[in-house]
Amino acid sequence: MARCVVKFGGSNFKAAGDMAKILKAVRLYNTPPIIVVSAFYGITNELIAVMDSSAQDETEIRRMTDRLKTMKRESLEAHIEDSKAREAVYIKLRSRLDDLSRVLLGTHYIGEIPPFIRDRILSFGERLSSLIVAAVLEYHGIPAIERLPEDIGLITDGEEGNAAVDFTASEKSVAAGLSADKVCVIPGFYGVGPDGRITLLGRGGSDYSAAAVARCVSAEALDVWKDVDGYLSADPGSVENTRRIARLGYSEAAELSYFGARILHPRTVEPLEDRSIPVRIFNINDTGEELTPLSVIGPDADAPKGPKSVTYTDDFAVLTLAGAGVGIKPGILAKVTGALDRSGINIKSVVTSQTAINIYLSEADLDRTDEVVRSLDLAAVSHVIPRRDLSIVALVGDGLGEAPEVAEGMMEAMDKRGVRFTIFSVGASNAAAYAVIPRSQREEAVRALHDRYFYAVKDREI
Ligand code: ASP
Ligand code: MG
Repeated sequence: MARCVVKFGGSNFKAAGDMAKILKAVRLYNTPPIIVVSAFYGITNELIAVMDSSAQDETEIRRMTDRLKTMKRESLEAHIEDSKAREAVYIKLRSRLDDLSRVLLGTHYIGEIPPFIRDRILSFGERLSSLIVAAVLEYHGIPAIERLPEDIGLITDGEEGNAAVDFTASEKSVAAGLSADKVCVIPGFYGVGPDGRITLLGRGGSDYSAAAVARCVSAEALDVWKDVDGYLSADPGSVENTRRIARLGYSEAAELSYFGARILHPRTVEPLEDRSIPVRIFNINDTGEELTPLSVIGPDADAPKGPKSVTYTDDFAVLTLAGAGVGIKPGILAKVTGALDRSGINIKSVVTSQTAINIYLSEADLDRTDEVVRSLDLAAVSHVIPRRDLSIVALVGDGLGEAPEVAEGMMEAMDKRGVRFTIFSVGASNAAAYAVIPRSQREEAVRALHDRYFYAVKDREI
């Protein structure tokens, strides 16, 4: 029988006692699952902070490794009562932490952090989790073994910081490297490049790791355990009366992530789609007696059509390149996108008209993009205008791109509440329509759209 790949993320590792919930969840599986884990909550961010300061400050390195030691010791004390058994795990952990401090000290002495070392340092967060989870499961009578991506041949394209998995190179070796009779625990977030070096799969990338492993082993399902109630019709922090979405298509899940929903990494469904492997979302705080998913993502054709959720992102800015005729002059876009690509800046989207090219970006990239664009020789561009304090609000649901009434409905709903959008788009994808709005009106816009599309279904799931 096919196995499930089970992902436990940072939200499942917040408090020292959290592993009790993980044990409970793992016991619900009849066949030993393959587990992919993230770093403990917040650890990746802390490692980034230490790296950025380690070029200057040696004491930060000590403070971080001491903190990690204490954190791991507390979590072992909470779950492994026998002191001998605990010490054996602790020795392994210490040696891994010693490795980490050696690498950090190395960067401190040479005064810089080459990208491949950065990737290696950040991968430690996940590798500490996998060691502990495997040990705790084993101690509690669930045969388990830690398997590292470098041991099982999870191969990437080698791009530092943001690699993609090379499935042709990985599929056979990963499947062969995972023993069937034990729970295998794999650290997420990284694979190894063709040269054997550790490469990260991008921030939040352990969902993508788990999906990649699920593909390699032709898993029955990818089960993602969160601390929320699955997919909802909006962020419950902004809207009351949210509805749970029981079934979504792959495209809808991808669009929701793209437009800011924080449940899954945007690339998670990529490896699964053509194999029709479902993603099932569970809440770790509500395990129950059986595996009952809150939301299931599967083939688009199996999910009901229509609006599913209102989502938003504040991580957004626009750089407008204005000039008479920029829309028809050949070559401008090629120059701009080429230069941004060389500078490692990710373009979220481009919307053009005759007199303006609008580049959608992460807000953090706006200033650098502005600089790069201004350094280019673009005769047709008369003004470069950075636009900040904006948000995107999107309505996601398969079929929206072909429903002519959607644009009118969204505009009317926002207009009634006085929300002023600057750009509106429907049809770029069949599963989403969005508006660019002032950030100060984002809450209002989300509520307006949620009321319009989900008020009528308030007593049931979507
Ligand atoms: N720990 C990594 C991050 O925070 C990967 C993940 O959690 O998915 O980006
Ligand atoms: Mg995550």
